[in-house]
Amino acid sequence: MTKEGNQEGNHKLDEIMEIESEYVMPTYARQKVAFVRGRGALLYDTEGKEYIDMVAGIAVAVIGHSHPKLVEAICSQAKELIHTSNIYYIPPQAMLARRLCEKASMDKVFFCNSGAEAVEAAMKLARKHTKRTKFVACEKSFHGRTFGSLSVTYKQAARQPFEPLLDTTFIPPNDMDALKSVIGKQTAAFIVEPVQGEGGVVPTNTEFLRCARDLCDDTGTMLIFDEVQTGMGRTGKWFAKEHSGVEPDAMCLGKAIAGGLPMGALLSKEEFVFEKGEHGSTFGGGFVTSAAALATIDIIESEGLVERSEVLGTFLREELSTIKQIMGMDVEDVRGIGLMVGMELSGGCDEVVTRALDAG
Ligand code: PLP
Repeated sequence: MTKEGNQEGNHKLDEIMEIESEYVMPTYARQKVAFVRGRGALLYDTEGKEYIDMVAGIAVAVIGHSHPKLVEAICSQAKELIHTSNIYYIPPQAMLARRLCEKASMDKVFFCNSGAEAVEAAMKLARKHTKRTKFVACEKSFHGRTFGSLSVTYKQAARQPFEPLLDTTFIPPNDMDALKSVIGKQTAAFIVEPVQGEGGVVPTNTEFLRCARDLCDDTGTMLIFDEVQTGMGRTGKWFAKEHSGVEPDAMCLGKAIAGGLPMGALLSKEEFVFEKGEHGSTFGGGFVTSAAALATIDIIESEGLVERSEVLGTFLREELSTIKQIMGMDVEDVRGIGLMVGMELSGGCDEVVTRALDAG
């Protein structure tokens, strides 16, 4: 193995940090740790220290780390064929498309490589179908960092250096009056996370989503659910839309879909599709990522992880609710659905995160 490929032992954290600071663009505020191995819910760092992973790669590792069946699926596909092109048929992509459509009650899929790309595709689809230019999204939303997805992302710090962006109006989540006042015959799409992730685990309520569905129907606006964080069982259902029973015209998936390999997917109803040449992706729905996604779905099903998410999530929220204070700060709220759980503190949480990391 090359020096770069030999993970454990050879590179100590300080050395990695030094190389990084010289060569990698400093876009991330990294925690001071480098993990080199993972098994199930456990991670191990460069020093061999063990951690319980409560971050799960930010909504990615829903089947745990390096699940043997996922590793087997990736390796056996890689041994057969890794890449051709989307100008040819890709058998595991077709199988995956059918599986996802059946699971999500959708009709068609476009495969890409990230959540942002799935959102980008959904926005292009809305523009194409409505010929309109205005978008509506929620305050505190996060939908990605490409120009389109950033346009519907609320966070000022992420937007500001790249303005002007697409025309987007933001409304407070769950505010039906605000929604009624902005959705009209000029709106291309309303995009919403059924449970806001980056915004702080904020569930939208059924009434609000029903209202959105009705308004979109009345005005010919596309309703897009961003299930990049909430999909693949994390909320105790396969997809969070099942909690409300409200059906979007399109939904975006990413994060956990391929067990940790990069994949995004835009799922839509029959009426909302791209035609030949209107959209594409070199790697979208490739052999290895599709095989990984099929294995991920198999594992979630065979191990009953959707139900487990509901059971463990309820237990976690109950236990967290007994904690009233952490490091002098009040616990103001514990909320979420399934294993998508957030705890709100009265002050900043940096020190709590550092202490938790120290404690493994
Ligand atoms: N949508 C939601 C709800 C997200 O949380 C994220 C990422 O955190 C994205 C979209 C963008 O996904 P990606 O980082 O894969 O582009």
